[in-house]
Amino acid sequence: MGENRYYKKNRKRILLYKRDYYKKNRKKILEKAKKHYQENKNKIKKGRRAYWKKYYDKNKIKVLEKNKKYNKENKEKYSKYRKKWVKNNREKVNEYARERYKKYPEKQKALRQKYEKSEKGRVKIKERQKQKKYKEYQSSYWKTEKGKIKNKIRGHKRRLLTKNTINTLTENDIKIIQNRDKKCVYCGRDKNLTFEHITPLNKRGENSFLNGVMACESCNKSKRDRDVFGWCKLKGYNVPKIIIDNLKNLELNTHGGKNVKSKTS
Ligand SMILES: [Zn+2]
Repeated sequence: MGENRYYKKNRKRILLYKRDYYKKNRKKILEKAKKHYQENKNKIKKGRRAYWKKYYDKNKIKVLEKNKKYNKENKEKYSKYRKKWVKNNREKVNEYARERYKKYPEKQKALRQKYEKSEKGRVKIKERQKQKKYKEYQSSYWKTEKGKIKNKIRGHKRRLLTKNTINTLTENDIKIIQNRDKKCVYCGRDKNLTFEHITPLNKRGENSFLNGVMACESCNKSKRDRDVFGWCKLKGYNVPKIIIDNLKNLELNTHGGKNVKSKTS
């Protein structure tokens, strides 16, 4: 009680002193706080979560309303965020849907019927039926005489291809290439990197260290079995230096008879 009275009386002075002290020792204080946070990270996080949970339980309606209002005002942002979240948490979403269905089967059935009758739902259902029909058609095609022959030819071609393809690529080669190309050699993106044959296998490209680079899935899919120079021109990319170097080495390889292999680390 006494302390409190002292504080009340000298409030202004104390605050000024505190502010002054903070100004003078800002760096030190922040460092100390940071250190404290790092050392007690889990405890602090747990405490914060508990605090928010308590606050949320007490003010649930208020919080939900606030969220709703915010989401309504930021509709586009929210829908983008939501779509991304759903995409990244497929399993969770499915699990949640299953649980909800078990809990409220009648309600979910009614919702489903409503969706099926809506414009969006009808389009989606039609799409799905088309896909199913196409798949059925495809699988039945491979069972016909014509399909069987075609399948045989395909397999033959594939075997021929692998028989004549130079196939020297090792796991270690792939590791070296992955370490060398941390980004897509064409567009520079660093996500969804895949192994890419500079000269495609079905254009007599080798399955070898020199014929390999890393490319993002999107570039890989876009290039497919096209010639690298033509495709780069089409996309407005410069042909990457590593590719020019490798192609030169490949040329030396086939005409000079030397065997350039990956440098083993
Ligand atoms: Zn790319």
